[in-house]
Amino acid sequence: MSETLSINLDPRLLANELSSLHLINGALVPATSGETFDVIYPATLEVIGKAAAGDRDDVVSAVAAAKAAQPGWAGLSARERGKLIVECGRRLTEHAEELGRLVALETGKALRTESRVEASVLADAFVFYGGLGSELKGETVPFSPTMMTLTQREPIGVVAAIIPWNVPMMLMAYKIAPALVAGNTVVVKSAEEAPFAVLRICQIMNQVLPAGVFNILSGMGPECGGPLVAHPDVGKVTFTGSVETGKIIYRAAAEKLIPVTLELGGKSPMIVMADADLDKAVDGAVGGMRFTRQGQSCTAATRIYVEEPLREAFVEKLTAKVNKLKMGDPLDEATDIGTIVSQQQYERVTSFIEIGKKEGATAHELSALPQAGSGLDKGFFVRPVVFTNVSDESRLTREEIFGPVTCVYGFNGLEEALRLANDSVYGLAATIWTRDLKTAMTATQRLQAGFVQVNQNLVVMPGLSYGGIKQSGLGREASLEAMLEHFTHKKTVIINMT
Ligand code: ADP
Repeated sequence: MSETLSINLDPRLLANELSSLHLINGALVPATSGETFDVIYPATLEVIGKAAAGDRDDVVSAVAAAKAAQPGWAGLSARERGKLIVECGRRLTEHAEELGRLVALETGKALRTESRVEASVLADAFVFYGGLGSELKGETVPFSPTMMTLTQREPIGVVAAIIPWNVPMMLMAYKIAPALVAGNTVVVKSAEEAPFAVLRICQIMNQVLPAGVFNILSGMGPECGGPLVAHPDVGKVTFTGSVETGKIIYRAAAEKLIPVTLELGGKSPMIVMADADLDKAVDGAVGGMRFTRQGQSCTAATRIYVEEPLREAFVEKLTAKVNKLKMGDPLDEATDIGTIVSQQQYERVTSFIEIGKKEGATAHELSALPQAGSGLDKGFFVRPVVFTNVSDESRLTREEIFGPVTCVYGFNGLEEALRLANDSVYGLAATIWTRDLKTAMTATQRLQAGFVQVNQNLVVMPGLSYGGIKQSGLGREASLEAMLEHFTHKKTVIINMT
């Protein structure tokens, strides 16, 4: 506690230092089995370090540590826990540049446009939730004049958080900050591709938090995440990842009858009406599609519906803008777009691009791959693609690609736009671009999504409930409601005064 870690701006050195380790009960420890797996820099395929391959034995140690620490942690006042979480945020801000570089190295997300941004807003989640400790309050209920009736919020106990690789630090923060402030202790299972930045965060936070309050394991999904979800002492699972894995986790949680939060995929529509500000809408598409993150976002604007009079001009401006983005070494300050995270994802994304071409859609392949001989030849670079002439039944329209691929479709009239936008198994995010208030309000009422914006396409922010409907998941994150509804039990207490 309270010792300070020095800042290390060399991400390769840091990855090496953090190699082959979990963090359990306040200490960096290797996997019980001694097994590890390689972690690569997806721009060069160099091995940057090894991750501990956690299994059932490591899960048992981590959950035991979390369980032992939980009563003491819950025994602090909520405001005291909140203060410690705010202090974690302060320290993470001091380490922001270091964390940005480390996450750029393991994920291939460009440092300037993505990784540094993620690291620099990370503390917001901790500061936001740290300030909400006193909101963990109950109610008095006017049940009977002779009975004092009240409710109180209590922590669930040990929370398991399973996180993905695309925005690993921020998505972890939205899970652990509310869980911890509410008095739970946590075991995180990091994503195979991105174990280091989140491990570093855990190490920094363990300078502030009592041992066992926040533990982190790396490992494969079924071998490490599976036993974590199934562990009898885990009382809640919060997960972000694919729909398939989300369903596996939901089934395992159902066996134990424990609550889950599932933030799954998306196929988010963007509707551009003929009266929209064209330039703003084009900027919104570039940002909303997260082209600088190679489109690796659950909320990416992958179905762009543009009203016919604007469609051609929109495509022209959008392709011209995306074409100017510079692909290159993610750690280079000049780079706008880095790489896809892994070979598996690279193959998935490129196969979708092939499907689109085979179906006869028009592929506008933009920007330019890094120059041959730049040392990046083997890297998982994929040129951003804007598809036009795509059918509504195409797999490009139906499935989440999780790459820099978007489709632009035409429509006439709001009714058609809403029908097309809602014709999806997903329901995470949606946007509408218009100058007309009635159109905007109608769309916000009828768009089937958990996060709807008018004339902007921002990412999730602390304080705003975020989550999906349909196949996009269950529950909400990032808000006060997320802490109260997803990380506490409500207990009713009746005191008979007769
Ligand atoms: P992606 O395809 O984006 O990697 P996944 O849903 O497979 O998405 O992975 C998200 C997280 O879920 C990762 O941390 C991964 O290790 C974990 N995971 C994968 N399979 C399982 C499983 N069967 N049980 C628990 N966690 C899993």
